[in-house]
Amino acid sequence: MKLNLNIQPLSSWIKTGSEPLLIAGPCSAETEDQLVATAHLLAKTGKVSALRAGIWKPRTRPGEFEGIGSIGLEWLKRAKEETGLPTAVEVATAKHVEEALKAGVDILWVGARSTANPFTVQEIADALRGVDIPVMVKNPVNPDLSLWIGAIERINNAGITKLAAIHRGFSSHEKSAFRNEPMWDLAISLKTLAPELPLINDPSHITGNRDLIGYISQKALDLDMQGLMIESHIDPSVAWTDAKQQVTPAALVEIIEHLTLRKPEIRNAEVKDKLEELRNQIDKIDDLVIQKMAERMKIVEQIGNYKKDNNITILQVNRWDEILNKRTSYAKALKLSTEFTEKLLELIHAESIRKQTEIMNKDEAGQAAEKLTHA
Ligand code: PEP
Ligand code: MN
Repeated sequence: MKLNLNIQPLSSWIKTGSEPLLIAGPCSAETEDQLVATAHLLAKTGKVSALRAGIWKPRTRPGEFEGIGSIGLEWLKRAKEETGLPTAVEVATAKHVEEALKAGVDILWVGARSTANPFTVQEIADALRGVDIPVMVKNPVNPDLSLWIGAIERINNAGITKLAAIHRGFSSHEKSAFRNEPMWDLAISLKTLAPELPLINDPSHITGNRDLIGYISQKALDLDMQGLMIESHIDPSVAWTDAKQQVTPAALVEIIEHLTLRKPEIRNAEVKDKLEELRNQIDKIDDLVIQKMAERMKIVEQIGNYKKDNNITILQVNRWDEILNKRTSYAKALKLSTEFTEKLLELIHAESIRKQTEIMNKDEAGQAAEKLTHA
């Protein structure tokens, strides 16, 4: 089921061109000089469509720098006047919205911690009613697609149609190279449910590490995301927040110039034919896999009936271990990864167990129902 959103194209509210759309600027506005000087360097690259800066910073722990506050709006105004770059800030309360609108900020965004709280999102949405301003909604801190969708719907229901989603990764208890796990499948699910909603990637907050920004940016573009939001600071080594993930405007240019833009639509007829032929092969193999799976399940049912008639437990650990070992070493020889094979087998096994449990309990459930009706 597709989401029912009313969305205007990205090009109706921000400059898009042949290069990836880029929103850049410091994590936080720290001083007037830092912000304005960074803005000038970014504007000079010719690659940046909007200047971002946080002035109200949601920090996980108290005592960290919580943003310069409303005075930063004046600095943003100056940066815009001098560079011509439209400005974007994070808002987390109705008061933030009101002040940002009054100061002429061009784009607002809802941060990850706010998206996780429907009360906060609703407060922001109510403050936006009747206003025509673009809003970008970051994914919530936790990997919950419904929360992300809910926030987008609340803002859209308030009449905001210049809307985009920002993928900034999710908190995870698993140790990894990233500050926030990308969990690409969640972003892809959102794109599938709302193909018309522009999706912008935030590699800075995903990686937490400037060395990995190029890698994640490329991956986002390969997944056909429409743009990037990257934190850039005139001197990241002294940044008051997120120092490790910020890049100088010069380093930003390096990153962008190394990206390859691939086209979702195929123009070259020869490439198109070849791709079509390969896709036909895939379709045939997928049909076969499904057919074989159905055959396997039929046999599983026969085994289920046999186990029931002979009072044998559904799960026999030895047999499952044997399947897992034999199949994974066979799969490995065929160059399939063990992780993939194990996941696939577990899925098939779970469905087999479910089917056999159904068979085992069919008559018992029937008898219990019978007893109840005669009681
Ligand atoms: C930010 O963009 O600086 C920020 C605070 O990001 P997030 O809401 O993704 O943590
Ligand atoms: Mn940041």
